[in-house]
Order: sequence, then C-alpha cells, then structure tokens
Amino acid sequence: MPPSDADNPLECFMAGLRKRNPGEDAFHQAVEEVARDVMPWYLEHDELRQAQVLERLTEPDRIISFRVTWETDSGEVRSDRAWRVQFSNTLGPYKGGLRFDKSVTQGVLKFLGFEQVFKNALTGLPMGGAKGGSNFNPRGKSDREVMRFCKSLMTELRRHIGEHVDVPAGDIGVGRREIGYLFGEYVRLENRWGGVLTGKDEHNGGSAIRTEATGYGCVYFAAEVLQHAGGSIEGKRVAISGAGNVASFAAEKAIQMGARVVTMSDSDGVAVFDDGMTEEHLADLREVKNKENGRVSDFAEGRSGVEYRGGEKPWRVACDVAMPCATQNELDDDDAQRLLEGGLALVCEGSNMPLTAGAARHVRDARVPHAPGKASNAGGVAVSGLEMTQNAMRLSWSREEVDERLRKIMREIHGQCVAEGEHEGRVDYVRGANLAAFKKVAQSTLERGVV
Ligand code: GLU
Repeated sequence: MPPSDADNPLECFMAGLRKRNPGEDAFHQAVEEVARDVMPWYLEHDELRQAQVLERLTEPDRIISFRVTWETDSGEVRSDRAWRVQFSNTLGPYKGGLRFDKSVTQGVLKFLGFEQVFKNALTGLPMGGAKGGSNFNPRGKSDREVMRFCKSLMTELRRHIGEHVDVPAGDIGVGRREIGYLFGEYVRLENRWGGVLTGKDEHNGGSAIRTEATGYGCVYFAAEVLQHAGGSIEGKRVAISGAGNVASFAAEKAIQMGARVVTMSDSDGVAVFDDGMTEEHLADLREVKNKENGRVSDFAEGRSGVEYRGGEKPWRVACDVAMPCATQNELDDDDAQRLLEGGLALVCEGSNMPLTAGAARHVRDARVPHAPGKASNAGGVAVSGLEMTQNAMRLSWSREEVDERLRKIMREIHGQCVAEGEHEGRVDYVRGANLAAFKKVAQSTLERGVV
C-alpha cells in the first residue's frame, strides 16, 4: 500500500517526487535531504501547505534543452546536448554555474539547480538558483575546440540569459577560459556589454578573488565551525579531495591558516603528504594541472614528501577535517566509516553533495559536525554576487575588500546555521542550513501569491 500523507508525509511526498522525476537519483537525494529537515516546520504552517510551497520549490521554473553542434580541429562535426535549468528566481535573477562533463545529464543539473536555490539564499544576496551545462567532455580537447564549442553554445544560451534574467558562471570543466569565450560571443551577438556572466577575467569585468572564493570560503567556514566548538583550524590535519579550482584554493588557504593539508587527489589516485603539503608542492601541482591533461600522478611520482596511491581516494588517510572538493557522491558509507575510525572531527563540503545518503547518516549518527555544501561552498557564488554588484556599479573593489566581504558572508552563513541548527548543545549544520534557507525562499514564494 502506498504511504498516506497522515502516516508518513515525507515518504508520501518523496514517492510523488520520484514518480514525477523517474531515474533522477541525485535529484531525489538532494530533495530528500532538504525535505526531511524542513517537513516538521512546513507541516506546522497551513498557509505554506495550502499554497503547495514544497511542491513548487521542487519543480524547476523551466528547463531549456538544446543541441550544440561544433567542429573538431580536423573538421569533423560533433553534436552535444546542453541544458539550462532555471530553478527559481524568487530571490533574484537565476544564478548558478555551467558544468561541462561527460557525467552531465538533465537530472544532475536539476539536483545542482535545486541546491543552488538554497545556497544562494544563504548568502543573503539577491540571487535565485539555476544550473546548466553540457555532456561535452573537455578532456583531450584542444583550446580551439573548446572555443568553438563555447561559441556555439552561446548562440542559443544568449536568448535565455541577461543580467536581470539569468547569470551563469563556471563549475566543473568551466573556468576563466571558457567564461571568456562565452562572454566574448555574448557581447558580439548582442552588441552590449553587461554583467551577464560571472567568473570573468579581471580584464573583462571579473571580480578579484572570484577564482579563489569557493576554496577560501570553505576554509573560512571550517575555521568558524571549529572555533564555535572551542577549537581552531591551526595544526588540524585536513584531507582534501580533488585538484581543481576549489581543492587548490582550499589547500592554499588551509596552509596559510596553519593547517596541515594531508591529501589532494583526482579520479586516478591520491597524493598523500604525511608532513603536510607545502606552498611549493601546491605551486608545482598547479603547474602540472594547467598543462593539457595534467594528472596528480605526474606531479606526485618521485617527489619527496609525497606518496602517490593509485586507484585510492583520500578517505583512508587519518585526518581531523575531511574536505571533499571534487564532485557529488564521492564519499560513500565505507569511506565515512574509515574516516570516523581515523578520528574525524569535521566534514566540510567544498563540492556539491559529495556524501552519499549513507555516508551522511554515518556522520550524523557519530554526532560529528557536517557542514553541507550549500553553506560551506557558498563563497564562490557569493563572490559572483559581488561581481554582479561591481558590474552594475561599473567599478571594481580591491582584493582586500572582496576578501573581507567574503569572510563576513561566510561568518553570517555560519551564524544562520547555528541559529536554526543548535539542538541539545550541538549544532546540526545540515539541518540548520536547510531550515534557514528554506524558510527564506518559502516565505518569499508565499508572499507572491499563486505564480
Ligand atoms: N558553480 C558554483 C556553485 O556551485 C558557482 C556558481 C556561480 O558563481 O554562479 O556554487
């Protein structure tokens, strides 16, 4: 018998959502994590239920899906799929990154767009939530091929974006280079300069610190959590996964703040730094990664102070802080158990939904603080919001000014998590972030009437 609303409202709601969105597992997982935490509060508010606010906030406003055709260097024609999931513009223009990766599907972008709505709400800046991207695989593509792909994609995307409509940015596979090509094509086609993309190069109206923001913000957040619990980040062993933008600037800031970074990784294996990664290590790793198809193994093999473990993830290495900065569901049940056995004191997410539902359960049951990405990795989109402000005002703030604002925003997000998540002397950061964000978006949805 299907569960009834009165017996189990969460299961009943989720059964409907799964039926309406078949096969989109990551989307189900992201919604369930929020719905579980907000359901008791939601059920106490008849006006929200009558307005179907939860149902409305779990259905994107629209999804644009299109074909991108481009030519390889040898003149072969290729077509890829692209999407923009405009999830909610309740709090401001749609805002969120573009991801180019072979794993991209409509379902993955729905999960990311959904997360983005709540993440953006926590920043306190006027931004709605969206996500987009393509299953185009940038690995092994030449610079010219990436450029042709970006320009072709923009010939369609330009119809759906604008500084008051939807403002895309980067994500996995989309960095400054891609944003530059996309922006160049937009300005050419529309013959107008506007802050329609963020993550731009500083010569093109980009903000200082935008590249560093997600990684820096994540470490600022970890420092807040540890400080709130009476400790400090200094001397802590921090295991980081990934070697991309988020991971690399998280490592940089962690080292600057006196932590010991014990791992960096990619999908092939992990580099372990038993005595802590140095700034020289980091500079060399960046150099290797900047080369076409540079791998962590190319950096690590034969280098002193580094042990390379092929085919392994960072989570076998004992640490105080686990900072997953690679991708969704990268840390599973087994990994969580290993980390807990190794004395884990905090999980602080740099990527979006890196823990499987089972892993998150283990961490929760062990009462170890778990900072969810929608809070701890919000620094990237927060500085995107600051980039929009600077573009609108036609000025640019200094590095110090942006960094100061970023720190303040991360501190305030931490405060919101504590205010909503403190329970019996401890803070449930996942619950705190979900409740604080959902309340804002739900309230503003309600005030707009039936739209
Ligand atoms: N892709 C980033 C995120 O997951 C940044 C989005 C943005 O700056 O719009 O939050």
